Amino acid sequence: MERPGPQPKKEMQAINVTEALGEFQQIARDPAAAVKKAASEKIVRVIGHLPTDVPEELVHSAGAYPFGVVAYDRRQISQADAHLQTWACSLMRCAFGMALSGGLDYLQGLIVPTICDTTRTVYTIWKKVRPFHFMENFLMPRQLDRPSAKNYLLGEMGRLKARLEQFTGRKITAQDLGNSIRLYNRHRALLRRLFEFHVRHPEILGNRATYDVIKSSFLIPKENHQELLNRLINALEQELLKLKTGREKTRVRVILSGKLWEPPALMDVLDEVGAVCVGDELCTGWRYIANDVKENGDPYVALAERQLARPPFACFVNKKQDRKDALLKKVRETQADGVIFVHLKFCEPENYDYPYLKEGLDAAGVPTLRLETEVGNVSLGQIKTRVGAFIEMLEGAK
Ligand code: SF4
Repeated sequence: MERPGPQPKKEMQAINVTEALGEFQQIARDPAAAVKKAASEKIVRVIGHLPTDVPEELVHSAGAYPFGVVAYDRRQISQADAHLQTWACSLMRCAFGMALSGGLDYLQGLIVPTICDTTRTVYTIWKKVRPFHFMENFLMPRQLDRPSAKNYLLGEMGRLKARLEQFTGRKITAQDLGNSIRLYNRHRALLRRLFEFHVRHPEILGNRATYDVIKSSFLIPKENHQELLNRLINALEQELLKLKTGREKTRVRVILSGKLWEPPALMDVLDEVGAVCVGDELCTGWRYIANDVKENGDPYVALAERQLARPPFACFVNKKQDRKDALLKKVRETQADGVIFVHLKFCEPENYDYPYLKEGLDAAGVPTLRLETEVGNVSLGQIKTRVGAFIEMLEGAK
């Protein structure tokens, strides 16, 4: 099996922004085609992981290709309903339904991070009903500020490492893991650079395009994605020189709070109404790219420390990093005009956090809007109307 690793430097092919973005859009909109193509280019095992608390670097260093399972095909959701309560979140029902109907057969393995009651239940049922050759959970501590959290995570990583080695037949050396960590760090840095460009120049790089790029980054191997990203950033910088625009200030600035940007068309709506998403708390957004892994010292300790330091999320409690304070800080730092909560129906962790966050934002005079959505099944008309009215209200208050 070929081990993914540092790639030889290639001559960067000049390309315009539309062409460069088109490559990412294609991947984000047809993940199955992307993973099949990428997997066929190298003989590697594709190991899926549910978003986004699995240490991908560890999977990568085992010579496998980590693929973020973003539920995108709702057609088979009824198959999941035979095993799960209909009040389980649509993300899990959709992903499980796809697996039951053979829609994830391109994966050889799956890792489920145990972050909430739903993931805990789904993992056990999934493993019994439709297991992959390799199927593991990754047990996350809930209270991240406890002294035992780091040791607990280290134990989990040790267990996952041993299972990956057994499955791939390859020992994970400190050097392999170090190489993977460096690759992922460089990649996150590029995505942050892209995000910063989007915030400064939404007229060139809109919301949907930016978030499609981030989403596509957990669908294809990082080596390939990094190459595409370099080309895109190059094209964007060339475009900026041509247009000679300064920093745009006129658009309404919003922050998205929640787990996923679902439905994807929400970003198109924000583009249409002239708003720019200047920050988010999303697992498929900023939370995925925000922090890096230390490149010196024990790589397992470094991976655990990154996990514990990631931006707050509803599934975890961390008194040292309060979610409401972090959200308010983000609002101040990004000069956001308002916050849009995007909640998947029946996502209990987000539902529990919402009153507390809303109270904090209300007290600080930050306007908010809450949307309740479902993977692949929303009334876009209603979203358009509500988001449009909210942005208009923020515009009027500017
Ligand atoms: S955190 Fe929410 S969206 Fe994610 S799996 Fe759990 S219930 Fe579903």
